[in-house]
Amino acid sequence: MAYQLTEEHRIFRDAIRAFAENEIAPLVEEAEETETFPKHLFKRMAEYGFLCPRYPEELGGGGADKIAECILVEELTRVCSGIAGAVVAHSGLGAMPIYQYGSEEQKERFLVPAIKGEKIAAFGLTEPNAGSDVASLQTRAERDGDNYIINGSKMFISNGPICDYVVVAAYTQPERRGEGINLFIVERSAPGFNVSPKLKKVGNRCTETAELVFEDCVVPASNMIGGKEGGGFKQIDDTLISGRITYGSRSTGTAQAAYELSAQYAKERVQFGRPIIEFQATRFKLAEMAMNVDIMRTYTYYTAHLYDSGVNVRKESSMVKLFCTETLQKILNDAMQIHGGYGYMMEYAVQRHWRDGRLFTVTEGTSEVHKMVIARECGF
Ligand SMILES: Cc1cc2nc3c(=O)[nH]c(=O)nc-3n(C[C@H](O)[C@H](O)[C@H](O)COP(=O)(O)OP(=O)(O)OC[C@H]3O[C@@H](n4cnc5c(N)ncnc54)[C@H](O)[C@@H]3O)c2cc1C
Repeated sequence: MAYQLTEEHRIFRDAIRAFAENEIAPLVEEAEETETFPKHLFKRMAEYGFLCPRYPEELGGGGADKIAECILVEELTRVCSGIAGAVVAHSGLGAMPIYQYGSEEQKERFLVPAIKGEKIAAFGLTEPNAGSDVASLQTRAERDGDNYIINGSKMFISNGPICDYVVVAAYTQPERRGEGINLFIVERSAPGFNVSPKLKKVGNRCTETAELVFEDCVVPASNMIGGKEGGGFKQIDDTLISGRITYGSRSTGTAQAAYELSAQYAKERVQFGRPIIEFQATRFKLAEMAMNVDIMRTYTYYTAHLYDSGVNVRKESSMVKLFCTETLQKILNDAMQIHGGYGYMMEYAVQRHWRDGRLFTVTEGTSEVHKMVIARECGF
């Protein structure tokens, strides 16, 4: 079941599914093994309109809605969460504040090439000592003539090793806790911008991740998003609200893959003289998986639909992120159980989805943080 998918949505889903199966699936094993994102995919996906479908056509995007973006992300994640992660970090996080709050010049210089897949974007919010507590970030940007001088570091930055620019959150007015933050577009070539060696991860291995360090990093004042000091917190919030809905579709894609693999395996694996799918214990697990995948997808589309309609979805976006990422954990657990010992072997794809999906209750707000947001929005 799907929430009000139009004919256009369905055609888009079929096209991206075919692309993911034909052009992405053959790359996954090597990309995961070498922990390397196949960079040519940025341009290739842009050519097909699969990189940034939601940006306006006049900027080179597809002019599609949030539901279409969710369809895209689900289909990419179904094939490879690591590849989907890099695409989402680029189009949904790095490029998004430039689109929503950037100047015309910033859009021309940074957003349009990102939509074309010519420049790769990243988003730098988290720091070694500031994760859930965003307002405690320590990166500082001080005005110096026509420039800002940035000092600080950003941890766990997706696309960090391959990005052409990163949108960095820094305090311009540290005395205004939370309110004194700004976002800056920092180009890779900026003096004082350093990238750590790639971080080795449990899952999502082909999303390349690094720590970014800024040492007296010189950034033109014209690269500040929003044009005046302060106000960056709202820009971050708007970006993350959209990202939380996308996380519903990332979870659904991983869940769908785990479900399909489990159903297939259960038909093939014979024990006690019968395929294990004939045991009620297996069938019940698969039935619950099918139901939960359906709810996750529908709930994500519903929230995306509200977002498209201009409704304030601060509460709903946290709810969909929390529900889908947590429900995914049970689905992955059951998928591993159905696979028995073979599921624990690297040659079986289910273990990759299990490793990849474990991340989702942590990034873009932990489950605990989303419960705090929901409780606050409910007035508690
Ligand atoms: C693979 C990967 C990719 C990432 N990509 C990016 C990226 O591209 N850009 C970016 O900016 N960030 C990125 N992140 C960072 C990610 O968003 C953070 O890891 C996340 O926000 C949690 O922060 P933390 O890891 O510092 O955990 P912490 O905030 O230290 O939390 C640790 C634990 O304490 C709990 N906790 C904290 N505060 C409270 C509280 N008040 N009440 C109850 N429980 C609490 C948390 O829920 C969690 O369980 C990435 C992380 C990973 C692992």
